[in-house]
Amino acid sequence: MGSIDIPQTQTVALVRSLGGEVEFKTDYPVPSPGPNEVLAKVLYSGVCQSDLHTKAGTAAGSDGTPITNIKLPHVGGHEGIGQIVALGPGITHTAGIKIGGLVGIRFSSRICRRCEFCLAGVEQHCTSSTNHLHHEDGSFQQYIALDADYLTVLPDDVDPKVMGPVLCAGLTAYKAVLNANVRPGNWLVVVGAGGGLGHLAVQYARAQGALVIGVDTGAGKADFVRGIGAQEFIDFAKEDPIKRVHEITGLGAHAVVVTAGNAKAFAHACEMLRVGGTLSCVGIPPGSPALETPICTIVIKGLRITGNLVGSLKECMEAVDLVRRGVVKPVVKVRPFKDLPQIYEEMEKGDIAGRIVVQLTE
Ligand SMILES: [Zn+2]
Ligand SMILES: [Zn+2]
Repeated sequence: MGSIDIPQTQTVALVRSLGGEVEFKTDYPVPSPGPNEVLAKVLYSGVCQSDLHTKAGTAAGSDGTPITNIKLPHVGGHEGIGQIVALGPGITHTAGIKIGGLVGIRFSSRICRRCEFCLAGVEQHCTSSTNHLHHEDGSFQQYIALDADYLTVLPDDVDPKVMGPVLCAGLTAYKAVLNANVRPGNWLVVVGAGGGLGHLAVQYARAQGALVIGVDTGAGKADFVRGIGAQEFIDFAKEDPIKRVHEITGLGAHAVVVTAGNAKAFAHACEMLRVGGTLSCVGIPPGSPALETPICTIVIKGLRITGNLVGSLKECMEAVDLVRRGVVKPVVKVRPFKDLPQIYEEMEKGDIAGRIVVQLTE
């Protein structure tokens, strides 16, 4: 591949203030890759619920208070797929890094590699990490500089259109299913099964050998959720999901993965579980409500409750490989970059099946 023309300026989706509108700026500078960085041309980016929360200023930290140290103006996007177009000074074509190679733009952007969590392989919790949601411009721009030492190098033979959502929604779903700790033949419930994250959780759970019950509502969701491999579907607007789970499973589900951002769903999930079952929490309800499950229920049923913030780069590559091999098939709808404000509005209404991906360049 010969030299690639890199423009001086690019189009980005800029948010100037939290709660403000998305503004397309066409003369934003193209970053130049520093030492130990690569420059990637962004091809596609998934649109994640956390982009919406960050833009709206409603994203909460671990203590439940709103995250305030968000870079402004802000460029969202952390489910991006790019192609390397330039290497920073000192970078050689090693470790899979090459001009034209595909890379991922994920939530985590840089890590220290030395703290307890980096050393333990849970570097998404690195004590001095930065991410593409709060600290650095993300994939809603046409060019991005990425840390070469923490680069998500993707295989050449993946479909860049579908792979973006795997890097956040897919990885989170995969990790939530790993945390759910199910064995082949165990019943796993996915609440929010037709959504961007939920439809991937259904498939990763099937890949682990679990029998899956999808819970969701809305036109076409039953066929959609059964179509991606769920054994059973419960429309929570039409029937009592707790009762139905017990009817289907006998003693209750072995695990419930809650992807819905609704506090009630978490309390209901605990009631769906059998003795020794696991609640795997993924969605973060707005306003940071507490889990409503009585402590006696947790103690007497011996429940396990696990939380989940994306996953490590290694787990990301495992999630990618299951898609690459066709075991998990992300359902995506590709739309032009200029539709982003409209996509946010549709996400707020919440009736999107699968995931929306924007195409950054024509
Ligand atoms: Zn995300
Ligand atoms: Zn660290």
